[in-house]
Amino acid sequence: MTYDVAIVGAGFSAIALTINLLDMLPPKATIAVIGDDPGFGRGTAYRTEFYLHRLNVPAARMSIFPDQPDDFTDWLASRGKLVSPDTFASRGEYGLYLRDRLAARLRAREHRARLDFVRAKAVSCNGGRNEGVSFILDTGGNLRAKTVVLALGVGSAGLPVPPDRISPAALGRIIDNPWTMGWLSRVGRNDEICVLGSGLTMIDQVLSLRARGHRGQIRALSRRGLVPQPHLGRRAEPVPVDLPDGAELSQVLNALRRSAADAPDWRPVIDGLRPKTQALWQGLTISQRSRFLRHALAWWNIHRHRIAPDVHRQFQALVADGTVKVEAGFLSGIEEDGNGVRVEYRPRGSQDTTGFAADLVVNCTGMEKAGIGHSPLLRTMCDLGMIRMDELGLGIAVDKTSRVLGDTQRPNAALFAVGALTAGQFWEITAVPDIRVQAMRIAQTISAELHVADERATRSA
Ligand SMILES: Cc1cc2nc3c(=O)[nH]c(=O)nc-3n(C[C@H](O)[C@H](O)[C@H](O)COP(=O)(O)OP(=O)(O)OC[C@H]3O[C@@H](n4cnc5c(N)ncnc54)[C@H](O)[C@@H]3O)c2cc1C
Repeated sequence: MTYDVAIVGAGFSAIALTINLLDMLPPKATIAVIGDDPGFGRGTAYRTEFYLHRLNVPAARMSIFPDQPDDFTDWLASRGKLVSPDTFASRGEYGLYLRDRLAARLRAREHRARLDFVRAKAVSCNGGRNEGVSFILDTGGNLRAKTVVLALGVGSAGLPVPPDRISPAALGRIIDNPWTMGWLSRVGRNDEICVLGSGLTMIDQVLSLRARGHRGQIRALSRRGLVPQPHLGRRAEPVPVDLPDGAELSQVLNALRRSAADAPDWRPVIDGLRPKTQALWQGLTISQRSRFLRHALAWWNIHRHRIAPDVHRQFQALVADGTVKVEAGFLSGIEEDGNGVRVEYRPRGSQDTTGFAADLVVNCTGMEKAGIGHSPLLRTMCDLGMIRMDELGLGIAVDKTSRVLGDTQRPNAALFAVGALTAGQFWEITAVPDIRVQAMRIAQTISAELHVADERATRSA
C-alpha cells in the first residue's frame, strides 16, 4: 500500500507531528511512523529515567500544543506532581506525558486516521520529485508514502580532533555517544574522567556519574570553558528587545547587551528576544550567520539554553570542591598511556600544549553542525538530489514552510523536515517550544492538502 503520510523518526518531533495529524486528518487517511526506537516519542532527550535529568524549560512552556499552553502542567497536576508552573520536571516524566497524549488518541480508533508503527530504520530510499517516496528499511521491507516528513534529529557530533590524532589503542577508552547510558557501568569509583564539551550534556553526565557513586576527578574540556547558566527560578515577564527592521548581527548583539544592562536581570531579556529569533536569523546574510556561529555561539548557548537552578547549584558545588575542573582549550590528541589515556590540549590563549591523564574520555560536544553525515538515509537522499545541505551545514535546506529544497530551488511539495535538521532556515528550532509550532504548521499544511485532494476525488467520482 502507499500511505498518505510517512514520518521518519521516533523522537519528540515525530510524536508531536503524529498527534497533530491524528487530530486533523480525515479518518480514511493513512499514516506510517518509521522509527528505530522502542520508546516512540522519547528520543534521546526524554528516554532517561534518572530524576536529576531535568527539563531545561519550565513545565509551563512544555505543552505539546502551542494553542493549549497548560496541557503539560495539567497533566502533571492530574498526577499530583505539579509544584508550580515554573517546576523543572524530570525528562523521564515528560516522555510519559508525550506517550500518554498519544495513547489517548489511539484509543479513539473509529474517529481517526489509521496509524501504523513500523519499528525499523529507514536506510535508503527511491523517489522522485512530487511523486512520493519509497523507503528501504533495515528490516528488509519497503514502505511507500505520498507525503513524507523527516524527523530524524541531528545525531551527535564527532570528536573535535582529526582521527589521526587519536592513537588506535586509545579508541577503546573513548565513549562516542554518552546517551547509550551503558557507559556508566564501565566507570570505577575513583576513575578519572575527561568530558569533551562543557554544555548541557556534560552537566547531565557529571550528575549521572555522581549519582552512581563515582568519586574521582572529572575534567571538562571545551574551547571556551563556558558552562550553562541557571534559570531565574521564578516567573519573570520577558522584556521585549527594541530592534530596528532589518537589524544586522552587530546591532542585535548591541541591543541585547544594552537591554540586559538596563534590566534587573538579563534572563527576561534573552527570553524577550525569543519570539523574534527566527525572523532575525532569516534576516541575516549567510556571512553574518556564519560569523555568529564562529564567535557568539558558545555565549548564546549558555545564556539561551539554561538549566534548572537546583541542578546548577549541584554542579557548582562539585566545581567548588574541586571534583569537577572546567578547562578552556583545544583538544590536540588522545594517546594511550599505560592503563589509561593522556589527553593533550592547548589551553586557550597559550601556544603550548599540555595534558592530563584519564581512564575514560566521553564525547559530550553536542549536536551542532552534525549536518547529514551521520545518516545513511540523508546521504542517499542527497545523492538522489531529493535534499541538500543548508549553506552552513547545520542540517538540510528547507523553505519557510519546512518544505525540503533539493537540487533545484523549487521546494518539494511532498517532502517536509521538522526539528533541528531545519536549523539552517529557522535556527531557533531545537527545543519543544519551537518544534511544537513547526509540527502543528506542517500537520495543518498536510491536512489542508489532503482535504482538498479528497474533495477533488469526490467531485470527479
Ligand atoms: C539530553 C537532551 C535534553 C534535552 N532537554 C530539553 C528540554 O528540557 N526541553 C526542550 O525543549 N528541549 C530539550 N532538548 C532538545 C530536544 O532535542 C528536543 O526537545 C527534541 O527532543 C528533539 O526531538 P527530535 O525528534 O527532533 O530528535 P531526536 O530526539 O534526536 O529523535 C530522532 C529520532 O529519529 C530516529 N531516527 C533517526 N534516523 C532514523 C532513520 N533513518 N529511520 C528511523 N528512525 C530514525 C532516532 O533514532 C531518534 O529516535 C534536549 C535534548 C537533549 C539531547
